[in-house]
Amino acid sequence: MSDRRPYIAANWKMHKTVEETEAFVGELLPAVAGAGDVDVVVCPPYLALKRAVELCAQSPVRVAAQNMHEEESGAFTGEVSAPMLTEIGTDAVVLGHSERRTYFNETDDALARKVPAALEAGLEPILCVGETEAERDADATESVLLRQVTADLAGVVDARLADVVVAYEPVWAIGTGRTATPEQADEAIAFIRRTVAGRSAEAADRIRIIYGGSVKPANAAELMALDGVDGALVGGASLDPADFSAIVEAARP
Ligand code: PEP
Repeated sequence: MSDRRPYIAANWKMHKTVEETEAFVGELLPAVAGAGDVDVVVCPPYLALKRAVELCAQSPVRVAAQNMHEEESGAFTGEVSAPMLTEIGTDAVVLGHSERRTYFNETDDALARKVPAALEAGLEPILCVGETEAERDADATESVLLRQVTADLAGVVDARLADVVVAYEPVWAIGTGRTATPEQADEAIAFIRRTVAGRSAEAADRIRIIYGGSVKPANAAELMALDGVDGALVGGASLDPADFSAIVEAARP
């Protein structure tokens, strides 16, 4: 771990009703009360966001959406915009998750507009990037990361680059139980940091780059111990407040 503030986010995906969110937050808040040195973020489905914001209001835990549209309003049936998220007190937004890229045709072009739109609205973007298994096997990991990071951050001015959190999520490690080795995570994250340094050395030093892909209490400490890894985006293991708070604990400096 570096001196960047650790960042641990719970991506619930399409899990948890409002009632389940209440139960989760009720258990989480006391469990992370001593972790004031870590940014702790929960990412519920849209319908549970408002309740999560209310429940976390008197705590350091922050709330993120899992996606948003790049326009403020318009004829985009089924979509939600940044001002709609900030109106209810949402703090951050996951953008470019591989499930959205794979199943919902999320493109780098759209992300190039979504990331600055989120920042402008006052949302902290958690930008996900990462290669598929076929791309890793074809030795294309760095070219994929270069393409995604360059394109997705193209609309962000240098002075705001460090306000983005980048999540390196190798697609083959998401929800599969396979975790990148510490060496693989470290190498990819170092590459992303060098790519940001191509824009601004200062931003590269400050930007948080976290790892995602089957992070669990059993492997979190090893991953968090890596100097370049500033935290984790957690899917499956974030559905259980005890497991998630154990991962938060592992990230404490
Ligand atoms: C994710 O959804 O971002 C993720 C990393 O999932 P999991 O931890 O289940 O692999």
